[in-house]
Amino acid sequence: MNCIFCKIIDGEIPSYKIYEDENVIAFLDISQLTKGHTLVVPKKHVKNVYEMNEDLASKVFQSVPKIANALKKAFNPIGLNVINNNEKPHQSVDHFHIHLVPRYENDEFKMEFINHQDQYEDDDYEKVLNKIKNNL
Ligand code: 5GP
Ligand code: ZN
Repeated sequence: MNCIFCKIIDGEIPSYKIYEDENVIAFLDISQLTKGHTLVVPKKHVKNVYEMNEDLASKVFQSVPKIANALKKAFNPIGLNVINNNEKPHQSVDHFHIHLVPRYENDEFKMEFINHQDQYEDDDYEKVLNKIKNNL
């Protein structure tokens, strides 16, 4: 399979590996959005969150607090973003991954979507809520 993260997992492509267990590896993102920007990746190839089952999701997320705390101790960031992109507009590697992005005072990483807040009327929230619940 022509997947860059599978190649990293198989050791065909080098990476700066931070952590590895039976189910996941974590390595530095080649493009450091901020210092310590890390990717947590399941060893099993799944395209994105839609393809994950509960077991794999729990196994992958299990390692996140440990790595987050290592980043915190290592670099003393003011905060940390945990981000996962699925399909458009941001997913560029079709192998599920979680970004851990330590945040620093005056860093240049922008979570611009947090500014797109919309205040709904009560019945609009109800409609949205019901639509989601009906699809669980
Ligand atoms: P996405 O946009 O899919 O959420 O994130 C994919 C990430 O993978 C990007 O931040 C990109 O820099 C990173 N990436 C792409 N190719 C490589 C690679 O060969 N090695 C490493 N370490 N990171 C990569
Ligand atoms: Zn893969």
